[in-house]
Amino acid sequence: MYDALTGRFTFACPARGEARVTLSAFRQLERLPGAAHPAVYRVLFECGCGEEHEGLVSHDDLDWAPLGLDGGVFFNFMTSKLDSVAAELEDAAVRRLQAGEWPWSFFCYPEERPRPVFPSSFFLLAPGDGSLGLAVQCPACQRTSVNLVSHQHVDVPWHNDAEIRVVEHLFAEDRARMIEEFREELYSARFDARRIDI
Ligand SMILES: [Zn+2]
Ligand SMILES: [Zn+2]
Repeated sequence: MYDALTGRFTFACPARGEARVTLSAFRQLERLPGAAHPAVYRVLFECGCGEEHEGLVSHDDLDWAPLGLDGGVFFNFMTSKLDSVAAELEDAAVRRLQAGEWPWSFFCYPEERPRPVFPSSFFLLAPGDGSLGLAVQCPACQRTSVNLVSHQHVDVPWHNDAEIRVVEHLFAEDRARMIEEFREELYSARFDARRIDI
């Protein structure tokens, strides 16, 4: 599903048989109800054939495979610590996490602070003028922020943009309304650049 060498997810494409795409080619992510362990996400992605298709990604593939880990690690967002299961793993990614380095981060606008995050908290992505509009549901406060980031910020774990742009807007709680607002705000150019030191 995820190939760590190329940093790509493999999905089915009705035209080409197979599509290999990076995380930044995802357009929508939605956690499926029911399957709690492991959680499964329905993904809408932009395919190289020019169409958008749906695919399924497990939580482990989404958050841990890009780090070279296959699950079993749990990050506690309330304490900002990895849970004890990680202590037994001798892995470079785990050591970096324990040292407080973050593979992904975003700027939470309602809280006015940068926060660590994992891709399962991303839920809308839209390509813009060279950058990527990224809607994140904050794992700490549950509210939505939209950041403008580089493709590497999303695709390359441990690459965090030093500065990102933040949409200055408090988004609706309701998903359908939120998606509408996301599109409106993304093209309104009401952004503010924030430093993100993580
Ligand atoms: Zn396709
Ligand atoms: Zn927050």
